Amino acid sequence: MSICRQRAAGKLRGLAGRRPGPALSQGMAEMRFDDYQKAALSTAIYAERHRVIYPALGLASEAGEVAGKIKKVLRDQGGDFAKAPLAAIKDELGDVLWYVAVLAADLGLSLEEIAAENVAKLAARKERGTIGGAGDVR
Ligand SMILES: [Mg+2]
Repeated sequence: MSICRQRAAGKLRGLAGRRPGPALSQGMAEMRFDDYQKAALSTAIYAERHRVIYPALGLASEAGEVAGKIKKVLRDQGGDFAKAPLAAIKDELGDVLWYVAVLAADLGLSLEEIAAENVAKLAARKERGTIGGAGDVR
């Protein structure tokens, strides 16, 4: 297991069992996905006519920023996710999360429901032994 995966696994283990359902650790405080979505919406300032498309484009752009920072770690740091590049990637993942939350809201979807349904879908796949493979429905 890579150092990064070990770090992530350790952090996830630390969060497990603290609260039912998906929750985000913020050090001293925790935030529910729906609370995050409301907070994200309070900073969404694009024009009404650009609903859906604006956050969809932003999501694609920010996902590219994450990929670009990871690419630079591979190119310049030999794949070592040191503190500074990891902080930059974390920041970009936050930007991705913001666009996911706002896009979901524009489509009338709850981030809490999306998270819960995704976890349930993956757990069912794991139980059926279909985590690997192809196709949206398996
Ligand atoms: Mg960004």
